[in-house]
Amino acid sequence: MLKLIVGVFFCGAVLAQGNVRVLLAEGELNESSEWHFTTSKKSFLCLYSEGSLFCNGKPLGKKAVRISADDNRCRYQDIVYAGQIALIIQDNHWYVINNISLDEYVYSVLRSESWPGWPLEVNKVFAIMVRTYAVHKMMVAKKSKKKQLFDIKATNIHQTYKGVHDFEHLLQAVNETHDIIITYNKEPIVAMYDSCCGGIVPAHISGFDFKSNPYLARPYACTFCTECKLYNWKIVYPQELLVTILQQEFPDLSFIKEIHVHESDKAGKVMQVNVKAGRFHKKISGTLMYRLCKDVRSFCYTIKKEGKNIIFTGKGFGHHMGVCQWGVRTMAKQGFLFKEILDYYYPGTTLMKLVTEPYDATA
Ligand SMILES: [Zn+2]
Repeated sequence: MLKLIVGVFFCGAVLAQGNVRVLLAEGELNESSEWHFTTSKKSFLCLYSEGSLFCNGKPLGKKAVRISADDNRCRYQDIVYAGQIALIIQDNHWYVINNISLDEYVYSVLRSESWPGWPLEVNKVFAIMVRTYAVHKMMVAKKSKKKQLFDIKATNIHQTYKGVHDFEHLLQAVNETHDIIITYNKEPIVAMYDSCCGGIVPAHISGFDFKSNPYLARPYACTFCTECKLYNWKIVYPQELLVTILQQEFPDLSFIKEIHVHESDKAGKVMQVNVKAGRFHKKISGTLMYRLCKDVRSFCYTIKKEGKNIIFTGKGFGHHMGVCQWGVRTMAKQGFLFKEILDYYYPGTTLMKLVTEPYDATA
């Protein structure tokens, strides 16, 4: 049977029917696995037992169930989602996946990843970035040799996605940037962003693959985020507290006699921290320090010991790459438009439109 579906064409590729598949949850399958879904009309209790999937007591005879409702709403784990929700069993693993239109997804993610109270132009910038990142993930999934069940995860590993919200003014940012994405060499870019770059020059950051993502190698400092409280920050750790934190990885550490940044790269990103205490002498990588010390806001800082305190003094909030949220806010307030802002933060990129056209799904 000939069936027409609306698909999204981009640079000759057809993206999965223009919808994005978001992984909401996953886990190992066991005999007590169960899932609850609710629509405005019905509740669904799905169980996995003795190798079969049951829904409301009935065996399904297949390893997937898809739930959608006339009002386009479905609840899972106390969050309401637009679109369809699928529960899929594969290789002793279960996946709950939300299949949703790209713009509904962008609208949802803006609530979490942008600043709904900030100017419209800021949210337009974010709508384009969120869409671009999603399209990038959709294309990666599509090109993957192994069949992918989902395109993107719902957590901040990718982009935080929390379903339906009522910040309706964000729709304007989505609608006014409809189908626009950021490209480099006609491919969607990896649209990285952080909260405040602290004036760090991304091109000077070591250990990053700028060859694959040259648009992230911005060779000049952002000068628009100085208003952010975390442009310059200072964290004071009482020595005992920092010892307790570092003991997670170094249980034989009992006090800190000396601590300083041993090596930084050209950008100021900490590569190694030197810690001395009696016979204890360790060089701790900057990445590990960042992971252990939750109050340290970024990768660029210095450390000094003053009496019984260890003082970290640093710049920015985040990883210093791509768009700087606080910088975008200032640029928007100064009248810059989304294209100018994106050109500034992702040099060498071009804005393109996804083209929505009908295609023959049986072809
Ligand atoms: Zn900045």
